Amino acid sequence: MTQTDSAASTNRVVTCPACGGASLYASSNPYRPFCCVRCRQVDLGAWASERFKVSVAPAPTDVQDVPWPGTSA
Ligand SMILES: [Zn+2]
Repeated sequence: MTQTDSAASTNRVVTCPACGGASLYASSNPYRPFCCVRCRQVDLGAWASERFKVSVAPAPTDVQDVPWPGTSA
């Protein structure tokens, strides 16, 4: 890390969202902000599975049987 900001404005190093490592955020890195194609695929897979999980989750059947305190009064 001996770069100066003035000369390296287009070659920023950011944190890879997948592995937390250093990633070159530049046009030479087609996988930015990820550091490599593997990290990019891993993140997309995690995002897809998480989205799938959320779409399946809403099933609050138990909550409907619970009476609110004070509604019977
Ligand atoms: Zn990475």
